[in-house]
Amino acid sequence: MTAEIIDGKAVGAEVRAQVATDVAAWVASGNRQPGLATVLVGDDPASAVYVANKRKACVEAGIADLHQHLPADSSQETVAELLLTLAADPAVSGILLQLPVPKQMRGSDLTALIPAEKDVDGLTPVSAGLLAQGATGLRPCTPSGVMELLDHYAVQIEGAGAVVVGRSDLVGKPVAQMLLQRSATVTIAHSRTRDLEAVCSRADILIAAVGVPRLLGAAHIKPGAVVIDVGINRTDAGLVGDVDFDAALELASLVTPVPGGVGPMTIAMLLKNTLIAAKLQAK
Ligand code: NAD
Repeated sequence: MTAEIIDGKAVGAEVRAQVATDVAAWVASGNRQPGLATVLVGDDPASAVYVANKRKACVEAGIADLHQHLPADSSQETVAELLLTLAADPAVSGILLQLPVPKQMRGSDLTALIPAEKDVDGLTPVSAGLLAQGATGLRPCTPSGVMELLDHYAVQIEGAGAVVVGRSDLVGKPVAQMLLQRSATVTIAHSRTRDLEAVCSRADILIAAVGVPRLLGAAHIKPGAVVIDVGINRTDAGLVGDVDFDAALELASLVTPVPGGVGPMTIAMLLKNTLIAAKLQAK
């Protein structure tokens, strides 16, 4: 079998175009323009690039760019005050605190100050609880992007055996919850899982969110499986995922490339979340 390659760039562009159309319709019917406040503390070059990309995508979708930049030596209290001001500002639909924050701060305490209805990253304890209970709320962007890809390619989720490798709050746990909510039979594997090959090779849907280059190979992939590789690893050979792509191409029915698979979905889902947040607040 030669797998079909999932085109995350194309699906991401489609989602972004749809958000732009929906934002225009929302504003045309008399609603306030959605706005995203990205908050960058300090000058970490990688974070600065991520934030710049998010801001550019926002503007392209018709979302107001309400970016805030604080110096690296800001106190925890200063950042907290800014977050509380943004939380109270009706022009701000979504707040995204770019992590990591400088060492003198406790990022998780700061993130927790973002109200659930503005938590476009979906990472606060309240948002995680709403997801766990299947209640209305904002979902984390990368896991939402994975679900969007599965739906775009009409993957049968209900009743499928899904294995998620990785249990982070950012990707593994939320994507497992989302699959469970859609009635997959979900197994979460992690660094202490025994016999990872045996666990993974049962999966109809295999999601890798580990951060170890090419950890999963032919022995982990059930013939015909759908393989979603969230991993982004910088190696001497360039960017690679957590899955041996050539092995997956031979065995799977559908596979995401790295780059160009899950990666482009994250910003697209952030834009989608910002519009959902604006609508939640208008209710
Ligand atoms: P993390 O380090 O927080 O978590 C990694 C998880 O992998 C842990 O739960 C750990 O138990 C598990 N793990 C580690 N070694 C293992 C092993 N040998 N066998 C089985 N499980 C093992 O990482 P994260 O934030 O969840 O990110 C995972 C990967 O996804 C990284 O490569 C990251 O760069 C990438 N990522 C991509 C996007 C995107 O937009 N595409 C977004 C977020 C993260």
